[in-house]
Amino acid sequence: MIPYGRQDIDEADLAAVRDALSSDFLTQGPRVGIFEDKIAQVAGAKHAVAANSATSALHMAYLALGLGPGDILWTSPITFVATSNAALYCGAEVDFVDIDPVSFNLSVDSLKQKLVEAEREGKLPKIVAPVHLTGQSADMREIGELAREYGFRVVEDASHAIGASYLGEPVGNGRYSDITVFSFHPVKIITSGEGGMAVTNDPELAQRLRLFCSHGVTRDADLMEARDEGPWYYEQVELGYNYRMTDIQAALGASQSARLESFIARRHEIADTYDRLIDSNLVSTPVRLPDRHSSLHLYVVQIAGGAEKRRQVFEGLRGAQIGVNVHYIPVYHQPYYRKLGFEIGYCPMAEEYYSGAISIPMYPTLQEDEQTFVVDTLHRAVNG
Ligand SMILES: *Cc1c(COP(=O)(O)O)cnc(C)c1O
Repeated sequence: MIPYGRQDIDEADLAAVRDALSSDFLTQGPRVGIFEDKIAQVAGAKHAVAANSATSALHMAYLALGLGPGDILWTSPITFVATSNAALYCGAEVDFVDIDPVSFNLSVDSLKQKLVEAEREGKLPKIVAPVHLTGQSADMREIGELAREYGFRVVEDASHAIGASYLGEPVGNGRYSDITVFSFHPVKIITSGEGGMAVTNDPELAQRLRLFCSHGVTRDADLMEARDEGPWYYEQVELGYNYRMTDIQAALGASQSARLESFIARRHEIADTYDRLIDSNLVSTPVRLPDRHSSLHLYVVQIAGGAEKRRQVFEGLRGAQIGVNVHYIPVYHQPYYRKLGFEIGYCPMAEEYYSGAISIPMYPTLQEDEQTFVVDTLHRAVNG
């Protein structure tokens, strides 16, 4: 089976994890801070807070921005359920903004329209969470302008997009957002096993992210009511969680980050090869926009001819031991969201995208003969 994505672990990664395992700390040791510094540097952000997953980091980010009951968070329907679930954890409501027909990211036009209506109804979102689908940034400058105009906060779900850039600057530098979240799940660009990170330039938000990451407990005198009872003293000032990353995970993540650039360069080579091999009369290939550099987590092709045709092509590829996937089923299709009142068809562009999407294999160690096999099988499946 050729999977749709997989990690690439080398000797240096193994050595880093072995060192962590034989050190004094398996968790809350020095390696988490080292990994945080590396990611802050890659992202061009002042602060980074590691977590045990991007899902946890999204939850921490929403809590740090004060999302709670009575608030609304908007995101793209074409994302993993975690982006919106984390808002439900906060007791907030969720709503979906339809996607752009070219990039398949959250559409700025749909966002504008929805904001005008929401303002009229007094139902403006507290947070908008754009998702950088496949590793290509959403239109952050325009989203940032709307954030100022309408007074919402912005959390970038950059789970696919560590190492990507937008208008010449790294994704995560916070020019157009409050907090950016990355994932280090093994199918993503670099991995820590499970793991995620939230980055921000705001020192107060960073402090709040850390609080929610670790039980809401602090030893920082500035955050305490400060009845200092002795050197053992700490205070719980928020209802936080245990979302901490271990030193074992951080060792792997920090070691992997040394190869981030080469991983992304290799992903672009693979995409170039697919672009060249795939017959664009049969299958449409993803668009790489010229003003931003994708980290190419996924290579999503579009099959024309509707959902039945897509299913037939998908099954043809799986039948040939090619581990294709679909990213994503619109979140509001999920039974849990249907029970919240959403209906299939809610976002027409997302429906259109979903009915044709197939993610074909994309990972650094994918070989050219494997790519040829994938594309030949794809062409046969579309013609058959
Ligand atoms: C992978 C992913 C997540 C969740 O990441 P975990 O680290 O697995 O919790 C969230 N959002 C998107 C868009 C993702 O792809």
